[in-house]
Order: sequence, then C-alpha cells, then structure tokens
Amino acid sequence: MRLEKIERSLSGCTRCGLCEQRTADGALTVFGEGNPHAEVMVIGEAPGENESRAGRPFVGMAGSVLEGMLREVGLSRGDVYIANVVKCRPPSNRDPRKDEVAACSPFLDMQVDAVSPSVAVTLGNFATRHALMTGEGIASLHGKLRESPRWPGVFVFPCFHPSALHYNRDWKRWFEEDIVTLRGIVRDGFVR
Ligand code: SF4
Repeated sequence: MRLEKIERSLSGCTRCGLCEQRTADGALTVFGEGNPHAEVMVIGEAPGENESRAGRPFVGMAGSVLEGMLREVGLSRGDVYIANVVKCRPPSNRDPRKDEVAACSPFLDMQVDAVSPSVAVTLGNFATRHALMTGEGIASLHGKLRESPRWPGVFVFPCFHPSALHYNRDWKRWFEEDIVTLRGIVRDGFVR
C-alpha cells in the first residue's frame, strides 16, 4: 500500500488507548516522514512531547542528534525515512504497552513494506527488540547487522537512542563507533 494511503487510514485513529491522551493534549498522530524509496529507514519507539506537538518524528534535541548522526554517515534527513513503532505519545513517555503495540505496529509493518529499505536503523531498546523480535537489550545488539525476522529481507542495525546518550559515557562512545560501522555499510552499497 502507498504511504499516503496508509497515513490516511490512521486519520483520527482510535484503535488503542493512546488516542485518549492524544485527544486530551490536543496532540497529533506522528505518522512518519522522509524519502518514500529510502535505502535506510530510521525507527524509534514513539513520539515524545515535541514530536506529538509538531506531528513529526525526531524533532528537538533528539532530532538534532539524529541529523548529526546521519551527516556522519553521509546521509541527510531527506535521504532516509523516519517512523516510530507507535504513532501517538504514551503518557509521561512510558514504554508503549503490548496492546498498544499490537494495535499500532501493523502500520509500521506497512510502512516498511511500502518503503522497502535495505537497512532499518533501530534507535534504542524498544524499537530494536520489536524489529528483531528478541528480549535481548541494545547493549548486546548495537552495531551489528542482522536480518529482521519481522521484516524478511530488511537488515536491522541497532543503535542507542540519541536521547539516552547523555546518561552513560560508554553508550555515547559505542554510538560513535556504531556510526563509523554504519558509514561503512552505507558506503559499501548496503547489503543487497
Ligand atoms: Fe491509533 Fe496507533 Fe495512535 Fe493507537 S498509537 S491510537 S493505534 S495511531
């Protein structure tokens, strides 16, 4: 299905309880944006406050870190497609619940299918575990490319979430090393 059609099908969505918070806050659904034919897709967990106000993924500080990361890799924001596992902000930025992921993630599946990227860069534990269908954490998974059991043919490259880097010096260092690895993957023509 084309991205525009998927986005239209989410208009005014009430498929899970996160719609209540969205309506109460006057916030927006954050569908995703970017190059519809991107070789690299960036996948996060859920919109935060800035994102749900703007209706765009990864704005503000996390967006600046992401854009800097992409520059290091040799890409711009317009080269990639950016989306989250769930499209409405969970209250107090808590992790999305299973029922919320079950309701919303089919839209991400459709986005991945429509864009058909070679590489999905997952940011943080939640998006990585979702893409790789594993309980393992980002600390052991980051920086290694492996095929997604959820999206066959798409290779997942897990990275730490940009907004988590200031919590831990090792994460920041590993994030920078992973950018170098990702730059090599992009330079070598991805994995197809
Ligand atoms: Fe609909 Fe997804 Fe928002 Fe839930 S999170 S209300 S499924 S758009």
